[in-house]
Amino acid sequence: MSTLSYVSDAPDSPWQTYLSQVDRVVPYLGPLAKWAETLKRCKRALIVDIPIEMDDGSVAHFEGFRVQHNMSRGPGKGGVRYHPQVTLEEVMALSAWMSIKNAAVNLPYGGAKGGIRVDPKQLSIKELERMTRRYTSEIGIIIGPQQDIPAPDVNTNAQIMAWMMDTYSMNVGATATGVVTGKPIHLGGSLGRVKATGRGVFVTGREAARRINLDLQGARIAVQGFGNVGSSAAELFHGAGARIVAAQDHTGSILNAKGLDLATLMPHVRETGGVGGFKGADTMDDEAFWDVDCEILIPAALESQITAARARRLKAKLVLEGANGPTLPAADDILAERGILVVPDVICNAGGVTVSYFEWVQDFSSFFWTEDEINLRLDKIMVGALKKIWDTADRHQITLRTATFAVACERILMARQERGLYP
Ligand code: NAD
Repeated sequence: MSTLSYVSDAPDSPWQTYLSQVDRVVPYLGPLAKWAETLKRCKRALIVDIPIEMDDGSVAHFEGFRVQHNMSRGPGKGGVRYHPQVTLEEVMALSAWMSIKNAAVNLPYGGAKGGIRVDPKQLSIKELERMTRRYTSEIGIIIGPQQDIPAPDVNTNAQIMAWMMDTYSMNVGATATGVVTGKPIHLGGSLGRVKATGRGVFVTGREAARRINLDLQGARIAVQGFGNVGSSAAELFHGAGARIVAAQDHTGSILNAKGLDLATLMPHVRETGGVGGFKGADTMDDEAFWDVDCEILIPAALESQITAARARRLKAKLVLEGANGPTLPAADDILAERGILVVPDVICNAGGVTVSYFEWVQDFSSFFWTEDEINLRLDKIMVGALKKIWDTADRHQITLRTATFAVACERILMARQERGLYP
């Protein structure tokens, strides 16, 4: 339970889930446990009012947030989400998971996250731009290339990052490409960034499969969410000889035991907005997706998808968490009991922030790498990070999730201890 006055005690809230994950890791922190309370608080949380003039002349107000969870290891780093259900507590949890993720792959960053409580689909493009620019100005007092570097998340993209970069640059009077990542390529963006998260899911999945003697050749995979992360991961696994037998998104669930033909499915998704209605597969009930015969399951859509009830039914041997927070804590325990290996979000989907780090480094040096260089460096970092986590899990006989938290929390708290408390 939280001791903070401004958070609720709702048991399944993302912040409470995060706190229970921290509690599980405290026994493995040794003398650093003295600093563990640091992880249960956010360093700074800014709530801003975003008033904008709408196209019809009326004035609308939106609620915006930027939370910096921990900055012991470097500037804050984390995306900005536009969603009608965004809350301060959700942004706090997402910022905390960024602290863990950045430390797990040993990037020189702390964790941060932002959000606006809005349904962006209801705004015109000009309204979206005005809201983004006003939000950037309001949080401008705490972001910056050396302070806190936003990036895209749910419902935000390269265009929104370009507006954020331009607004911040106008306010400081100099072009500051390093203030955000996930920018368009010609504005200091990085090659390989768009597919980096899916690539990280593939790399960690390939390594995990190798370690449990699961042959990718012919392995059957079910993917929930066929957006940026899910579809990129699916393409890479398909290229490695696996069969994508089922896919689910907000438009429906499809099944083809022989393997979906991605060369026709991808254009179908681009043209129609989802997998629903794809002619090369059978349609199935959404709930039946969780019973599909497969070796690998990739949740790459939303939070809280693998509930305890679904965890009891899964057929997969390996779960690769492309999404943030797809598995509830009770489901985690059931998967562990059933011997189903989970590669947790805080390492599995860290490929995106890793290439964001490459983008930031390239912006500072104004020297840009080839896509091959980026993919090779990403592969090396992800393989090394997973190895350390795997060794930690073996040593303490704990799950990969607790091991990832152990590795990350030790790095964060070591930095906390070495820096000392100010004043
Ligand atoms: P996206 O918007 O490109 O895709 C989201 C997918 O989820 C879509 O296919 C959508 O149809 C599907 N979806 C939405 N509602 C659904 C529902 N009720 N049931 C089934 N499917 C549903 O988003 P994305 O960038 O691919 O992100 C997916 C997840 O990965 C999110 O949890 C995000 O936080 C996480 N993530 C993304 C990145 C990144 O770089 N894009 C990095 C780390 C983590």
